[in-house]
Amino acid sequence: MLQVEAVNKSFGDFKAVDGANLAVEKGELVAVIGPNGAGKTTLFNLITGQLWPDSGKIIFRGEDISSLPPYEICKKGIARSFQIVNIFPRLTVFGNVQVAVLSQQRKSSLLFPPAQNLATEETRDILESVGLSHKATNIAGSLSHGDQKILEMAIALGNEPELLILDEPTAGMSPEETTATLELIKRLAGEWGLTILFCEHDMDVVFAVAQSIMVMHQGRTLIQGNLEEVRENREVQKAYFGGE
Ligand code: ADP
Ligand code: MG
Repeated sequence: MLQVEAVNKSFGDFKAVDGANLAVEKGELVAVIGPNGAGKTTLFNLITGQLWPDSGKIIFRGEDISSLPPYEICKKGIARSFQIVNIFPRLTVFGNVQVAVLSQQRKSSLLFPPAQNLATEETRDILESVGLSHKATNIAGSLSHGDQKILEMAIALGNEPELLILDEPTAGMSPEETTATLELIKRLAGEWGLTILFCEHDMDVVFAVAQSIMVMHQGRTLIQGNLEEVRENREVQKAYFGGE
């Protein structure tokens, strides 16, 4: 579904992403792990068009999307959440998701009072499946940090993506929230037939859910493989566990 091929991105002299490679198969739950500063967010920004690569290719369902703007990439079926929560804090929880559903349906210009009755069923379905129904009328900015991260996932679902990209979905969450969120991610992949790509700096989080793991270190791809392959890789052991 997605192939990242030898992608580079520098900021001045600094190579934030340095020849990274990544493959995501349809229906897979794929994780990118690496310490802070490894280049994970930059890589996701390149995939979703917030940044353009200096060189290399990003292919989505057979099409080169490397130089498309974010809204074009979103239309093609990639939606994302951000490491730093990105919601409309003054709208209700329901309103946040409704805006995404309506913009997917190209009715967002109708978002004034009469539009309140539009897309309500789709919006309710999404809130139901992420477990936020009971907070639908709450003001988004008043939610806990954990619930705001979940709301951001719900907004991304409103875009009806084929590929959902989550940047550190459990960042800042308590251990209980983290466990619940990982269960949610697994369930969403199944229920919505989604392909999910997410990144994390916590190994345990990744090992609990991902079918394929790409290890990023100083902008480079050390390896992509399953749990065993990643654990046994000597470069990963050196870079990540500080082992021999
Ligand atoms: P990660 O998400 O893995 O923590 P990032 O992709 O956010 O890593 O950052 C990788 C490196 O690139 C960091 O050293 C960061 O300081 C640098 N970086 C990221 N964005 C910019 C930018 N817009 N300008 C300059 N340096 C940046
Ligand atoms: Mg990051």
